[in-house]
Amino acid sequence: MLEVQDLHTSYDGIRALDGVSLSVEAGEVVALIGSNGAGKSTLINSISGIVRSSNGRILYEGRDIAGDSAWTIARSGLLQVPEGRQILAQMTVFENLDIGRTALGNRAPRFDVDEICELFPILKERRAVSAGSLSGGQQQMLAIGRALMGSPKMLLLDEPTLGLAPLVISEVFDALEAIRTEIAILLVEQNARKALKTADRAYVLDRGRIVYEGSSKKLRDDPSIVAHYLGEVA
Ligand code: ATP
Repeated sequence: MLEVQDLHTSYDGIRALDGVSLSVEAGEVVALIGSNGAGKSTLINSISGIVRSSNGRILYEGRDIAGDSAWTIARSGLLQVPEGRQILAQMTVFENLDIGRTALGNRAPRFDVDEICELFPILKERRAVSAGSLSGGQQQMLAIGRALMGSPKMLLLDEPTLGLAPLVISEVFDALEAIRTEIAILLVEQNARKALKTADRAYVLDRGRIVYEGSSKKLRDDPSIVAHYLGEVA
């Protein structure tokens, strides 16, 4: 479904991605892990068209989308839930969900508001309040819900549980479990253990390069990965 080939991205000549290749098949959850500054957000932003890559190909459903605008990419069903969520603070919860529909383009909706509220019941309870008054966890649920309103074929999730309480983190992961049969997911997650539990496969990014790839189980069982990237002593 998504195939990134030899991608290079720089900021003012400083290389952030140095020949990254990865793939995500339909029906897969793929985790992207790596330490701070490894290039995870740059990779996600390059795929979604927010950041321009200088070289390489990004094939989505067989078409090279490198160079397409972020808007065109979103409307083709490849949708990002950005780090920091970017909800519209002055608008109500349901107005924010509604805005998610603008990414639909000509594609049919796959989720309606009721289904989003089944995934995240708190959004129904708080539907009429301004989104800015929600807690961090509720804003994250809203950001995911808004993306689902755009009928994604694939979701790019950048650190969805950053700064959230353990109970809320579980709720977010439960929602990902509920939608994974319908939507491919590329998941950047600082909570690498939890990400590897959910994901089918994972890539480890280090200073702009993929240094490891394999099944999540293989990564979880590899002492060098555990020691270096999961914050534990092997
Ligand atoms: P984190 O987990 O801290 O978010 P990351 O793995 O997502 O890290 P990136 O944010 O992609 O890493 O950063 C990769 C490199 O690119 C870092 O050296 C970072 O300082 C640099 N970088 C990121 N964004 C910019 C920018 N807008 N301008 C200049 N340099 C940037």
